[in-house]
Amino acid sequence: TVGTVSISLSSDFARAVPEMAVSWEAARVPQPALLVLNEPLAKELGLDPAWLRSDGLPFLVGNEAPGVAQAYAGHQFGGYSPRLGDGRALLLGELTHADGHLRDLHLKGSGRTPFARGGDGLAAVGPMLREYVLSEAMHALGIPTTRSLAVVATGAVVHRETPLPGAVLARVASSHLRVGSFQYARNTGDPDLLRRLADHAIARHYPGSTYLELFEQVVAAQAALVAQWMLVGFIHGVMNTDNMTISGETIDYGPCAFMEAYDPATVYSSIDHRGRYAYGNQPIIAEWNLARLAEALLPLFADDEDRAVSLAVEALRTFEGQFERAWLDGLQAKLGGAGDVQLVKDLLALMHANHVDFTSFFHRLSAAARGDAEPARSLFLDLAGIDDWIGRWRALAPDADAMDRVNPVYVPRNHLVEEALAAGSAGDLGPLERLLEAVTAPYGERPGLEYFAAPAPQDFSATYQTF
Ligand code: AMP
Ligand code: MG
Ligand code: MG
Repeated sequence: TVGTVSISLSSDFARAVPEMAVSWEAARVPQPALLVLNEPLAKELGLDPAWLRSDGLPFLVGNEAPGVAQAYAGHQFGGYSPRLGDGRALLLGELTHADGHLRDLHLKGSGRTPFARGGDGLAAVGPMLREYVLSEAMHALGIPTTRSLAVVATGAVVHRETPLPGAVLARVASSHLRVGSFQYARNTGDPDLLRRLADHAIARHYPGSTYLELFEQVVAAQAALVAQWMLVGFIHGVMNTDNMTISGETIDYGPCAFMEAYDPATVYSSIDHRGRYAYGNQPIIAEWNLARLAEALLPLFADDEDRAVSLAVEALRTFEGQFERAWLDGLQAKLGGAGDVQLVKDLLALMHANHVDFTSFFHRLSAAARGDAEPARSLFLDLAGIDDWIGRWRALAPDADAMDRVNPVYVPRNHLVEEALAAGSAGDLGPLERLLEAVTAPYGERPGLEYFAAPAPQDFSATYQTF
């Protein structure tokens, strides 16, 4: 109970695996200032937006009740760390959503925890606003994701390369169970802990499943998820095993970005020197991460180790086919139901060679289905090549209206995100609010929003990096 308001937070995770939940209090925020609040999401969670804006602010930064820091391990850029965990985050507890299912209410930037290692436990306004806008854009695109409830400025200074204003993000997720959670449990060598964690994951996400079915369903969820990323040009940027959920929701919006010109080798993250998490590598990395999950779960599949391995391998082998199917179905839908594998491959080769903006092309192509090819073809230098391709494609009678329902007009383009974050960090939230207005209703052109549909200026794209 906070004042006169009572909120019912459960602690199913902490009760299921207390060894992986360290009770902890968020850092004091003497003067919280709300920067952005997701009113529809608040209502779905049974929280009163008017209260959150006023007396509820201390609750939104974790100053009303303690939470837990969750333990997890993870492979980061291929190297294993047995102990990562919530270094600057806290799980406040689980709320019941209007759909009847539990949601984690989680804070990021709430101060150092026992998992903080060398970190300061803090977050800056810019990156928290970035997570807010990117995750809400993904949700609007119909892609499973953690949600953002609010960003609250703390008034404190965060020291990065320069001093920055601090913030706490309140995040909502089906759960924060990750591949790395299972790696942690397995690594303790306690079979009972691993089993309790798996039982908790099954109860929460895949009720009634066996342990093998749990794994199979995570494989299926991730194959579908990564296909959806690829179909909108989303580059996660840091697909470490601690950043891959069991629920199949996108998590951890750090260095992520939407691809501009189509190129499978695209990397925007300044820390991804070797391009491990490049756009085109995402499916194979997801499969690699799932192999790590299989290793962690192995003792639960069968008593006999050889048998357990063969079951795991068989399940993992389905990833590629499921991904390919979802990706090709999705591309065909983007092309208005017209196009076989060869036509798709030829298109991608042309887009790559001509540095064609991914989002703009598919959006503009519906005009070509209606008879006006100019908006799409003007994106290419090789006009003969694209004219030939459009001719072959139009002969298959694409459905232009169906295309407009699946190809977004407004995605959080890098230059728009940077502009909104810079203004937001300086106290002007206008650009962020306008960007949110565009990307939270991504389909169908709306008058007055031309600015949000246009590709980045060339000089911006040539050098752009996320952190
Ligand atoms: P990430 O790369 O964002 O998935 O984070 C990897 C690990 O670093 C997690 O254990 C985080 O909790 C931790 N971490 C990241 N930033 C900080 C910070 N500023 N203070 C403490 N821990 C951090
Ligand atoms: Mg993370
Ligand atoms: Mg992160």
